[in-house]
Amino acid sequence: MENGVLNYDSPAAIRAFLERNGLATNRRFGQNFLVDRQVRERIIEALGVEAGMRVWEIGPGLGAMTELILERGAILTAFEIDYGFVRLLKELFAGRDNVSIVQGDMLKTWRAQAVRPERIFGNLPYNAAFDIIADLIVRGCVPPRMVFTLQREAASRMTARPGSKDYSAFTAFCASVCDARILFDVGSSAFWPQPRVTSTVVQLVPKGEPVPLDQRRQFFDFVRAAFSSRRKTMRNALHLWARTAFASLKEDEFEDLLQESLKHIGFGADVRAEELGPEELLALYRTLMRAWRPDEPCPP
Ligand code: SAM
Repeated sequence: MENGVLNYDSPAAIRAFLERNGLATNRRFGQNFLVDRQVRERIIEALGVEAGMRVWEIGPGLGAMTELILERGAILTAFEIDYGFVRLLKELFAGRDNVSIVQGDMLKTWRAQAVRPERIFGNLPYNAAFDIIADLIVRGCVPPRMVFTLQREAASRMTARPGSKDYSAFTAFCASVCDARILFDVGSSAFWPQPRVTSTVVQLVPKGEPVPLDQRRQFFDFVRAAFSSRRKTMRNALHLWARTAFASLKEDEFEDLLQESLKHIGFGADVRAEELGPEELLALYRTLMRAWRPDEPCPP
């Protein structure tokens, strides 16, 4: 019994605990509990937490990871969307002064926090994972280390190589701010209820020279437009984006600018986004922007 009340390694104990409290798991929120202590320990190890560190946990569930983080002396803020779980967490961790529990969708609640964390981790459902990670990056909440447990497919989309089927706007966007690295897979038997898919633990650390904060949203819009249709050339894919981003240029003027910019980074006019690596997409974006605003200093 890790916190004297609930044995986090026992699906039967978790189920009985939920039933006693009139609750059930909700698939909409991706509620699969990590019932393998060794895996939980490995994730916490990867996070590199030291006593006194400010840590954010996204989706604590019933607190299986929360317990381990608190044992390491971290100062924890845990964001949980499920009201019933929040009620139980507050009971389970009553009397601890180094944890606060924030109820609601993390996407809507994190910005109200006065102090930024030194670590962020979470076991995130597929649909929420991209939105939450993108929001943290776009708004500049990127601590020295983040560790996320994601569906393997989501993890691949963060770390994929150019040209591969998982390479996406999200890969390029993450890579413009962070180095993303796959740490290890977690089989479905480590969870209860068991998901149908394998999970993967991914570590994100900030790059030395990330895209500046004030350009991240525009760069994300740019890569999303570039990948909007995988078969399209950059020229066709960026068509609509250019109408807003380069509103005062005529269509053929933008095409000329794009062609010159592509040439500048060593590519022809018919290249597709998936053929360009994250660095090349960033170089293209910067070249386009520089050409457009020649009087402004270059982004670093
Ligand atoms: N960390 C726990 C564990 O490993 O046993 C539970 C992980 S479970 C896969 C995901 C948790 O995230 C659930 O408790 C779910 O309610 C919560 N969650 C899902 N979407 C969320 C969101 N947008 N904001 C905060 N919590 C969320």
